[in-house]
Amino acid sequence: MMMQTLIDPFNRSISYLRVSVTDRCDFRCVYCMTENMKFLPKKELLTLEELDFLCSSFINMGVEKLRITGGEPLVRRNIMSFFQSISRHLDDQKLKELTLTTNGSQLKKFAKELFEVGVRRVNISLDTLDDAKFAKVTRWGRLSQVLEGIEAAQAAGLRVKINVVALKGFNEDELFRIVSWCNERGMDLTWIEVMPMGDLESEERIGQYWSLNELRQTLEQEYTLTDMAERSGGPARYVKVNETGQKIGFITPLSHNFCESCNRVRLTCTGELYMCLGQEDKADLRRPLREKPNDEGHLRKAIEAAIAKKPKGHDFDYTRQEVQGQMTRHMSHTGG
Ligand code: SAM
Ligand code: SF4
Repeated sequence: MMMQTLIDPFNRSISYLRVSVTDRCDFRCVYCMTENMKFLPKKELLTLEELDFLCSSFINMGVEKLRITGGEPLVRRNIMSFFQSISRHLDDQKLKELTLTTNGSQLKKFAKELFEVGVRRVNISLDTLDDAKFAKVTRWGRLSQVLEGIEAAQAAGLRVKINVVALKGFNEDELFRIVSWCNERGMDLTWIEVMPMGDLESEERIGQYWSLNELRQTLEQEYTLTDMAERSGGPARYVKVNETGQKIGFITPLSHNFCESCNRVRLTCTGELYMCLGQEDKADLRRPLREKPNDEGHLRKAIEAAIAKKPKGHDFDYTRQEVQGQMTRHMSHTGG
């Protein structure tokens, strides 16, 4: 089939697909999941073959970057067979990057294989370097397991970026420690502003909100930061720490200022395509996929129709410390 580019109504070309391959996870981070999460029945999920077919269709339509996420992507059974198979698009150079976001718990087991299939970078989420706090924020996680995973990833040759959710009164006191810990290990670092997601207690959520402006000001008490021009087409902005050369990212998903360059869409493990992180607009791709299995033309029409509905921007507004435009779905569903 002919290569093409996916262009949305605002002339943005869609080159980045994030795919949640499971809603399940071995952790229960407080800002992401409730303790007794109910997960989707298996039959609702796309099979790994269906996910491959869908991703491949997107790649044939011009998607160049694929990020696998979840839930925890590495707890999905046989997930390495998916990575193995989809990596053929790296070989034929249609796909420029295959990457994943993970909590790191399974990296000790999978880092080497991931590198072997062509993954070169991983984002690993880690909100604290303290054992007890780690257990508290993830509810079910163990810090040592994640640290071993990070070591394994670096040993395998993977470039690591650490994602930290900025949480007021929780990791504020670790700001400088986390920055230098990443720097010493040659890892990039991104701070993420907490988003109002799911049906978690709103009081708890607002209590946790720590604005990245404030975080940046604190950093500037010790470091000189220079804004970098680099943009990812997503909600991240980057600064360089002059003293060390370290790069630090800030993700403020609640701000609108990146929508005009948004190049991405998100696919859930049930085949729903979300055109914007901040809006409920979605398209069901599982139906056309199962209606006519292996008919890429049929699926392409559904994808094109979905992209034609990609909204201009999103609705979050957290500026007055009220939860407005709150999304009812969990990050584990759309994959963050
Ligand atoms: N389980 C993997 C992980 O934790 O990296 C991948 C999925 S997780 C949903 C993706 C990212 O979303 C993580 O970095 C996590 O910290 C972030 N996240 C989850 N809930 C969030 C929220 N309410 N606000 C901001 N970031 C959130
Ligand atoms: Fe799991 Fe990631 Fe959500 Fe934490 S943030 S509960 S690790 S999906």
